[in-house]
Amino acid sequence: MTAQQILTQLVQFPVLGGQSNLTIIEWIKSYLEKQGVAYHLVPNEEGTKTSLHCRIGPAVDGGVILSGHTDVVPTEGQEWHTNPFELVDKGDKLYARGSCDMKGFIACCLAMLPDMLKADLKKPIYFAFSYDEEIGCLAGDALAQSIVDTYQEKPKFAIIGEPSMLEPVVGQKGIIFCETRIYGSAGHSSRIRNEVSAIHEAARLIMWLEQKMETLYQAGQIDDRFTPNHTSIHIGTIKGGIATNVIADECSFTWDVRNIPSNTIEAIVEEFKAYCSQHEKTLQKRFAGAKIETIELHPAVPTLDTPEDAEVVTLIRRLSGKTKLHTVAYAAEAGQFSNAGFQAVICGPGDIAQAHRANEFVAKGQLEGCLELLGRLIGMFSLDTK
Ligand SMILES: [Zn+2]
Repeated sequence: MTAQQILTQLVQFPVLGGQSNLTIIEWIKSYLEKQGVAYHLVPNEEGTKTSLHCRIGPAVDGGVILSGHTDVVPTEGQEWHTNPFELVDKGDKLYARGSCDMKGFIACCLAMLPDMLKADLKKPIYFAFSYDEEIGCLAGDALAQSIVDTYQEKPKFAIIGEPSMLEPVVGQKGIIFCETRIYGSAGHSSRIRNEVSAIHEAARLIMWLEQKMETLYQAGQIDDRFTPNHTSIHIGTIKGGIATNVIADECSFTWDVRNIPSNTIEAIVEEFKAYCSQHEKTLQKRFAGAKIETIELHPAVPTLDTPEDAEVVTLIRRLSGKTKLHTVAYAAEAGQFSNAGFQAVICGPGDIAQAHRANEFVAKGQLEGCLELLGRLIGMFSLDTK
């Protein structure tokens, strides 16, 4: 099957982040089975979702992992001109949800499978396909760890095929989503000095977070490889209050941190929690039931910070034919593969500008370029380097 034929199949599975991905994995499994490729599954506890990995080529060290996620973002509220879950060919572009982010890459990997099997590979190529990437890279850690645990011979490299216009990406910001809830005491608005307004306290905490971002920036915590070049802390939603003249006894807000590699999410969240618990004690003097809690909505996604002299950089430069290295501001599983011990880079077909939007597309030229890149990988890995 061609990459376009495979992509036609893959986009028909409307698997959103958070939903069961068993249907699309079933299709991939049967494709692999038909070609005699054994695979391993890494299911979630309930068995409703699973990652998949497999190895093509010899059982030796030094292989490369090709990684992609099977989930996509929702299409609700977006103005699509075509059915988002059907691949529509409009000349030089292919339209569908996930065509770019990132079923296009998975389709290219699968389309090149017969070539990989035919080649006399001296080093193995692994496929690693995950779920729930779009809601916080929930499966990346377990998938990377399963590869470490399953195979005695260790892969050395990981290429994460997120849309990068086939340019090599060596840096990625970390990210976490948090929710902070404040519990105060209700009352007539005139009693504001006697009660604990959850909204007033939320405002204080929000200002603390904004000030934290400012302090890091002013202290020179800057990394010009990224845009923006600093750690950002942002409050995205806030809920609370029932009427103008009623003191709010509950308020909650959600916020995200996107950190540059030299800052850590853990340090920022810990410092905030310490401030909250100290502040909570002060509030409890006025109202014993006052409470502040912060929950992490998903485990922090680690940064990617692959040094320029890493071997994987040499590899991806040769494969892509591009020497300039890039960074991205979006979250991806690359940092997780890097933490598991693989030298990781992001490089895949399509433009991130088209991802997550209405009328998402991938240019056919990008898929062709990706197939050529994988062809070069097969060629390089078939050379006897001994
Ligand atoms: Zn993606």
